[in-house]
Amino acid sequence: MPEPRSPRTAGGPPVNPSTSRPQGAPPSCHLSLFTCHSSPRPLALVSACLLGRPCRYDGRHKLVPGLQSALRAAGYDILPLCPETDSGLGCPRPPIDLHPVPPPDGPLRALRPDGTDCTPALSAWIDATLATLRRRPPALCILKSKSPSCGIHPPRPGLFATALRTAFPTIPLQDETAPLP
Ligand code: SF4
Repeated sequence: MPEPRSPRTAGGPPVNPSTSRPQGAPPSCHLSLFTCHSSPRPLALVSACLLGRPCRYDGRHKLVPGLQSALRAAGYDILPLCPETDSGLGCPRPPIDLHPVPPPDGPLRALRPDGTDCTPALSAWIDATLATLRRRPPALCILKSKSPSCGIHPPRPGLFATALRTAFPTIPLQDETAPLP
């Protein structure tokens, strides 16, 4: 019997099926923070898919060539985070979208096409992540545009982006379409 092969996503390396993380991917957000906590350099929080991690709902990434090297050259430590994969929603996974519940102007909930509400998993991860980030607040956040978790622009900014803006109102928050500050 041939050994079962690790699933391979179209956008990158094999994925560890037990963690839904690509093999060799950066460690969890909390471990990353601990490992770089004593660094004197400013911290740049970046949507992990922009750095090439194949963590999108379709198992692909949205690598921005040169982003990581530009941040390093500018003196940042880099913290890659993926709210949806890191909160346990899996990868690949059904896409989620934000809907007001109850409509038309209730609080936004992150729903799958079949109506499954992913808000509790995302909110728990966001709360834990923000609590950790308060020990070492980011100096800059670069988040993926048009995402129900990471998108920063109205009319429906993502749940993580909204929570970041509330928790750290003075920290620059931009998407990958903006030039580096
Ligand atoms: S946009 Fe955010 S939630 Fe979506 S794959 Fe990228 S890092 Fe993960």
